[in-house]
Amino acid sequence: MESKTAVIALMGNPNVGKSTLFNALTGLRQHTGNWPGKTVALARGRFSCGGRDYLLADLPGIYSLDARSEEEEVASQFLRSGLADMILVVCDACCLERGLHLLKQVLELEWVRDTGVPLILCVNLWDEACRRGIRVDLELLQDVLQIPVVACSARSRRTLEGVKQAISESAGTVGSYQCLDFSPHRLAEETVHMETEHFRRLEERLDRIVTGPFTGSLLMVALLLGVFWLTMAGANIPAQFLWDLLFSLEDGLAQGLALLGAPPVLVQLLVYGVYRVLAWVVAVMLPPMAIFFPLFTLLEDSGYLPRAAFNMDRCFMRCRACGKQCLTMAMGLGCNAAGVTGCRIIDSPRERLVAILTNALVPCNGRFPVLTAMISLFFLSGVSGGFRSFLAALFLTAFLLLGVAATLCSSWLLSRTLLKGLPSSFTLELPCYRRPQVGKVLIRSLLDRTVFVLGRAAASAIPAGVLIWTAANLHLGGQSLLAWLTGALDPLGRLMGLDGVILAAFLLGFPANEIVLPIILMAYLQTGTLVEMSDLSSLYQLLTAHGWTWQTALSMMLFCLFHWPCATTCLTIKKETGSLRWTAAAIALPTLLGFLLCTAVHFVCRLLF
Ligand code: GDP
Repeated sequence: MESKTAVIALMGNPNVGKSTLFNALTGLRQHTGNWPGKTVALARGRFSCGGRDYLLADLPGIYSLDARSEEEEVASQFLRSGLADMILVVCDACCLERGLHLLKQVLELEWVRDTGVPLILCVNLWDEACRRGIRVDLELLQDVLQIPVVACSARSRRTLEGVKQAISESAGTVGSYQCLDFSPHRLAEETVHMETEHFRRLEERLDRIVTGPFTGSLLMVALLLGVFWLTMAGANIPAQFLWDLLFSLEDGLAQGLALLGAPPVLVQLLVYGVYRVLAWVVAVMLPPMAIFFPLFTLLEDSGYLPRAAFNMDRCFMRCRACGKQCLTMAMGLGCNAAGVTGCRIIDSPRERLVAILTNALVPCNGRFPVLTAMISLFFLSGVSGGFRSFLAALFLTAFLLLGVAATLCSSWLLSRTLLKGLPSSFTLELPCYRRPQVGKVLIRSLLDRTVFVLGRAAASAIPAGVLIWTAANLHLGGQSLLAWLTGALDPLGRLMGLDGVILAAFLLGFPANEIVLPIILMAYLQTGTLVEMSDLSSLYQLLTAHGWTWQTALSMMLFCLFHWPCATTCLTIKKETGSLRWTAAAIALPTLLGFLLCTAVHFVCRLLF
């Protein structure tokens, strides 16, 4: 690090806007969201002000420096390491006392007292406090604390100047904290004035509904249904448009490559192997993701997620797991790999492992296309219009709830066998409801989540395209490799109400779940390349011609919900647990469940129908 660069430790309670301030100062895009516990690792970024360069370290949010949780350990270790040249303590203007408790602990650190490292108190969420009629007397605060105190609304860049100015003025100064003593409670009482109780009462009333035992659960299911319905109803037209566009480019691309002198085999491999898989993944995944992620981010930003975790806490407690697992499940809905990383918010190693092992039981976005295709083809024939989207959303919600039930049962089983133990207690703060910034939510969810997940799916679709094309075109003893594989898997598939082709497609779809359906079609048609099947009725005819019934579709949906996690998730599990044994367990658990469920459903169907 250059000698000019000063290190600033950015710290504070969870959910007070540290990451928002970090992003605003550095121009980076750390994950922000209205729930405590998002920042579990240390993020760094650079910025300049007053002619100096600074390195800003965004520490995980903490309530104290007691080093009881992993976040507290990381934050207090950083502070005690003496690396920081300045400390910026961020607190919530609507909840000043809690921030002052942490500030007091920082001021009492021996290293801070001895070195006199400059400290700044940043009173954030100033706009929110004004809206709620909360007034904070900053001058009095500064007089008592004897450190710079600045008001800030990290979401709006205008107020950042004050923070930058305080940083420039404090750089290189030495503070004197030896005689400083104050009572956070009394100081907050003296400096904070409440002009109206209106907002607090409104929130209390709203919370009674959102977290009520009956109304809370009802609202949770209704919200899920609403999000899925909007996703399904809105994705159809853009998906068709993308489909037409991407597939219309195919022949031109092949001709272009041929003109450039590429040999026919290479043209086949690149265009009808790689490009086609890529186009399929983009056309099928992009539209629903571009709707689902912003809706999900809106819920996250409004402060709903921790309330959902609160509602689910009792169920998880009964299963001897941690209520925060609900948050990691919600993250898994977008992408299981992200959900597994998110399990770091769970402090107890036993409960974290339970959450990691069961995360893939909740379907990620990549699995939705298979589920929706099966629902539309085999369960909604004859239904049309808006009601069709609604029924499809209802089916999808039911399958998701099945995933939740499987998560709870598996957590219970794990807690009584491999991972024995009692649930630990945890504090989950219910944040204030905040009005989400629609514009920023759209940009952030599109750039950070949609493009990220799509990029990863595309990256795995390229090698998958090569592999699939090769397996279908390389012949051994007069039969393609793909045909060999499907033949070998057929008996097992039939036992589960599926067939060898479907199982082979799930195996080859290990890099990305989205390519399972195209592989099935390719194998049925024996074309050697993925086929265009935008027309639902010809897709239906093709599948029924290969013996598919609604029972096959049901088993297919069950296996889609419960089978091994995708390659990226497996790698993430290995990274997070550091153990091949637990990674194998995370693969075995959903696969075994899927196998048992499919086989049971197949036998029951055979008995009844
Ligand atoms: P952290 O956990 O301390 O890093 O908090 P985040 O930066 O993730 O912010 C928590 C929530 O507060 C997010 O929904 C932010 O959009 C929101 N937020 C942050 N700063 C402000 C602010 O100054 N005003 C308002 N209204 N919201 C803010």
